[in-house]
Amino acid sequence: MPLNPVDRSRHGTRHSRDLQLNPLFSREPVTVPRHALPDGAMDPDTAYQLVHDELMLDGNARLNLATFVSTWAEPQAQRLMAECADKNMIDKDEYPQTAELETRCVHMLARLWHAPDPDRVMGCSTTGSSEAAMLAGLALKRRWQHRRRAAGKPVDRPNLVMGVNVQICWEKFADYFEVEPRYVPMDGDRYHLTPETAVGLCDENTIGVVAVLGSTFDGSYEPVAEIAAALDAFEARTGLDVPVHVDGASGAMIAPFVDPALEWDFRVPRVASINTSGHKYGLVMPGVGWALWRDADALPDDLVFHVNYLGGDMPTFALNFSRPGAQVVAQYYTFLRLGFDGYRRVQQTCRDVATRLAARIAELGPFELITDGGQAPVFAFRIREGVGTYSVYDVSAALRERGWLVPAYTFPENRTDLEVLRIVVRNGFGHDLADLLLDDLRRVLARLERQPGPQRDADDAGGFAHGAETKDPRRPGRR
Ligand SMILES: *Cc1c(COP(=O)(O)O)cnc(C)c1O
Repeated sequence: MPLNPVDRSRHGTRHSRDLQLNPLFSREPVTVPRHALPDGAMDPDTAYQLVHDELMLDGNARLNLATFVSTWAEPQAQRLMAECADKNMIDKDEYPQTAELETRCVHMLARLWHAPDPDRVMGCSTTGSSEAAMLAGLALKRRWQHRRRAAGKPVDRPNLVMGVNVQICWEKFADYFEVEPRYVPMDGDRYHLTPETAVGLCDENTIGVVAVLGSTFDGSYEPVAEIAAALDAFEARTGLDVPVHVDGASGAMIAPFVDPALEWDFRVPRVASINTSGHKYGLVMPGVGWALWRDADALPDDLVFHVNYLGGDMPTFALNFSRPGAQVVAQYYTFLRLGFDGYRRVQQTCRDVATRLAARIAELGPFELITDGGQAPVFAFRIREGVGTYSVYDVSAALRERGWLVPAYTFPENRTDLEVLRIVVRNGFGHDLADLLLDDLRRVLARLERQPGPQRDADDAGGFAHGAETKDPRRPGRR
């Protein structure tokens, strides 16, 4: 059974038929099997056209306001990626310059995130923030195990404290690596982690606290420095030293440029490690993330493997072995190309577009903002009480008729009554596209207001909340 099974309810029996090539292409072969490897080869142009045509049905990435991940990159970045398509990131001996560019990126991020001693920072590229989260979580777990073993204490019940709003990768980390996830629930209008609620769940088995800069649910920043200060007080009280990991998948590439006074990074002594997605506000096409540790103490050496059979001793801390080098090269290109001021301008523009669009949407009347786009350029909004003829799922579906992908979803436990729409503003979605979206929103509202009542509910939402899903994967229909 493939992990991505063909949806037979949607496509019916047509999916048992071979793919038809003629007469469109007027070439041989006439048909090719859909699910079996074809017996023979075919002309590359035919194969190209077949694949190309099928992909026409994918959405328009630029109109995808659900994803946090880059959907636009400069042609020069794309050219470099094509030039590096054959480079395997793991072959550091064969491609020493690609490895060198990765190292430079780590150094740049260490300085951007105010490491007191950037030369002592340990860091690596990853496939994204999810892999970075696994690595950072493993480092927290291993550090805790070492401390506990040295003290002659048991190591069988590690836990990780975080808000229930964490991205799904943290739920995966806890599940895959057998760490008890301790989620701080939402409560009333509090949609993310706070100092008191975080400390309230910590004990001697806590390997760390994850603080998110740019919550998946609403784009808000969690108060990293305040959480760290509360953990300082907790340590003074109990002697328990609980490190903080910052999940800056979005925010770690936004805050340094547009919120320079906000202390969320290595300026906060308790912050042991930080991850970001190079392919989100790092402005690279999908396939790169970064994980950095303050120093070697934060990354136990026994997690680092030394591989030498490719010729040369090479330290590696990664879940994958082979991995494309092109995205890392593109990250370096983008750092060079934009510099600090270029990133600042891009992120400030995203924030301007997000805050203006949020304000315009609030002015329409039926919507109430949960966030206003003033932290990560991401905002969530709900339908006001008393607006009875349509649901957020109706709005999402109606916008889809024009190609806009605006996800609708419910908040987690305790606030499952809260149903929202969310818009992620990225480089490439400017004021003009935002105005077109507003025009379309006005148009569909006029129609939805005439409906007798809501037509769609959470089961119609589709699966595109990008990690803001339920914390119960067994609940059907909402995976
Ligand atoms: C997107 C996101 C992740 C997962 O990152 P990928 O790069 O998609 O693997 C983790 N945490 C947060 C806060 C995110 O926004």
